[in-house]
Amino acid sequence: MSWSIEIDANTCIGSGMCAGVAPDHFELVDGYACAKQAQVEPADEVVDAAESCPVEAILVKDADTGRVVAPEE
Ligand code: SF4
Repeated sequence: MSWSIEIDANTCIGSGMCAGVAPDHFELVDGYACAKQAQVEPADEVVDAAESCPVEAILVKDADTGRVVAPEE
């Protein structure tokens, strides 16, 4: 199983929370978040990053089924 990470660049406010929580998976480029890999192995810190984003700009899905893993509704 793998997860996909999508970041809504129009929503991201560049707070840097995601890169702080999961530096292996997120970085800031020109002040906005970028996923280091679009598909990743499931990892708690990816969920934590999506949950910590103040504007819920990060969407983590199961790459096979499309089920939303985080953030929780
Ligand atoms: S936590 Fe959200 S708003 Fe902050 S940099 Fe990451 S994606 Fe952007």
